[in-house]
Formats: sequence, structure tokens, C-alpha cells
Amino acid sequence: MLKIKEWKKPNTLEEAYEVLNLSANNKVVGGGLFLRLASDLTIQTAIDLSSVVSDEIIEMEDRFVIGAMTTLRTLEINHALNTAFNQYFKVAVQDIVGVQMRNIATVGGTVHSKYGFSDVLTAFAVMDATLIFYKGGRLPLKTYLEMPRVGKREKRDLLLAVEIPKDGRTCAFQMMRNSSSDFAILNCAVSKTISGNYEVAIGARPQRTAFAFETMKVLNLRGESQAKRPFEACIQEAISHIEADVTFGSNRFGTAAYRKQIAKVLVKRALMEVSL
Ligand SMILES: Cc1cc2nc3c(=O)[nH]c(=O)nc-3n(C[C@H](O)[C@H](O)[C@H](O)COP(=O)(O)OP(=O)(O)OC[C@H]3O[C@@H](n4cnc5c(N)ncnc54)[C@H](O)[C@@H]3O)c2cc1C
Repeated sequence: MLKIKEWKKPNTLEEAYEVLNLSANNKVVGGGLFLRLASDLTIQTAIDLSSVVSDEIIEMEDRFVIGAMTTLRTLEINHALNTAFNQYFKVAVQDIVGVQMRNIATVGGTVHSKYGFSDVLTAFAVMDATLIFYKGGRLPLKTYLEMPRVGKREKRDLLLAVEIPKDGRTCAFQMMRNSSSDFAILNCAVSKTISGNYEVAIGARPQRTAFAFETMKVLNLRGESQAKRPFEACIQEAISHIEADVTFGSNRFGTAAYRKQIAKVLVKRALMEVSL
């Protein structure tokens, strides 16, 4: 059961940061959905960031700035964002439980926690996304994905926003789940930049989202001779690297062997989609 002894809504980021780091039992609450699942958690002071962190998606000339308190539902229905990326976010989040839940779950709670099953993290991974932290400043999501979790004695930071450049890339998201409200058995995202550079990320392996570097290398080093080669053949070669590229594991949703097979199919579909 989750117990909260005190609820604070700071008026400044500095106050929120100070309260957070006063005690390991003080926690930021985004939507509170995942915190609520804890079997036995007592939060001394819950920190509500809604007065100091944006829940909006701001479109700028060269990027989108997504406030950490933005809900997954807003990602799904934001017109400007989904128009710029051809409904990519709508596709990536529409199968996460139901509208009520997506109205509560936040981008901050999702990205900060780096859950292994996350669809959203996989979607952001191939977009050259940058995270904005209160003290830590700007950090590429790619770097954050590889960083270990903050140690018990280290200071915890506040995630303020996620930035996505409007660089003209096309993105595709694919996943496999048994029913629309289940966790994905596997998910993947592929992007292709204007200059033809591909990024491939795979999540719900069931570990945290990872890049398929060898697969990307095949796609990105096609060179002149390869350019004459049918793209279908290039895709086949690229996806043959996936098994060795990322680690797959087993859990109650699927075995590692099953995930390896699914990964090839999903990545192929996503590659075909961005190459249309
Ligand atoms: C039943 C259920 C099913 C789900 N299924 C899926 C699914 O299929 N696919 C999927 O992608 N996701 C799924 N999710 C996860 C969901 O999408 C969110 O990622 C998750 O709920 C966390 O978001 P939250 O806003 O509720 O975070 P919270 O529970 O409020 O917080 C999570 C953690 O992040 C910290 N935190 C929150 N915001 C910040 C911030 N701004 N700065 C620093 N730290 C912060 C909190 O202190 C806490 O440690 C599911 C969640 C639930 C409860």
C-alpha cells in the first residue's frame, strides 16, 4: 500500500529540489500511477510539480518542448506534434491501457524512470531527444538511457522537459502486445533523417530501450554500391544483426527466443514505413 504523510506543492523549482533532497523518503509525484503500484511504500513528503513544471507542448521554430507534466494523452492528441511527425505519438501511446490512464500518466514520470516496458521511451529514443533537468541542464536522452540509476546517497534532480528537434526526420513505431491494455511483448522505433541516416531502437525486451547499432551500421553504410542494391535486400541484411545486437530476455509476456523473432518482423515493418 502507498502512504503519503505530507503533500507539498512548491512555488519554485529550487524549493521543490530542496524538499526532494531533504530525505530519501520524499518523492516527486508525476501522475502517481506507478508510485501507487508499490506494495509497501511510505512517502514522507510527496512533491507536486504542477505549479512549477509545464504540462504543455510548445511548438517553436526548430523544436517541440514537451513539459514534464504533460500527460500521455496530450502526446497522443496534440495536433501540432502529430502533424509534424505523421501521427507517430498517437500510434506509440494509443494502446497504453486506456484514455483515463493516459490522462494521468506524465512524460516526466515515464522518461525519468526508464521503465523497461516503456513504449514512450522507445518512441523518444530515435528522435534525437534532449532532456532538460533543473540542476543537470541539457542531457541527450541517448546518454540518459545508458546512465545507471541515481544512487541512494546522490542528489536527485527534477526533469523539466523533453525537447525534440524539428529536423524533418520520419519516424515509425511498431509493437506487439496480446491485448490493447497489456504491456508490449516488444516494441521498436525507427527514424530516418533527411540525409538518409537511420536509427533503430528496441524496447520491452523486456529490458530498457536499446539501440540496434549493428543493424543501424548496415543501413547507414550502404555506400554507392549498396545504393544500387534493392532496399529490401539491405533490410534483410540489417535485421539479421538484431539477435546479436541487443539482448532479449524472458518474462511472463514472452520468451527471449520469441522476442528475437518478433524483433526482426517489427523492425522490418518500421523500416519499410519510414522508407515509403
Ligand atoms: C497499470 C499500468 C500499465 C501501464 N502500461 C504501460 C504500457 O503498456 N506502456 C508504457 O509505455 N507505459 C505503461 N505504463 C507506464 C505509464 O505509461 C507511465 O510511464 C508511468 O505510470 C509513470 O508515469 P507517472 O506520471 O504515473 O509517474 P509517477 O508514478 O508519478 O512517477 C514515477 C517515478 O518518476 C519520478 N518522477 C515523476 N516525475 C518526475 C519529474 N518530473 N522529475 C523527476 N522525477 C520524476 C517519481 O518520483 C517516481 O519515482 C503503465 C502504468 C500502469 C500503472
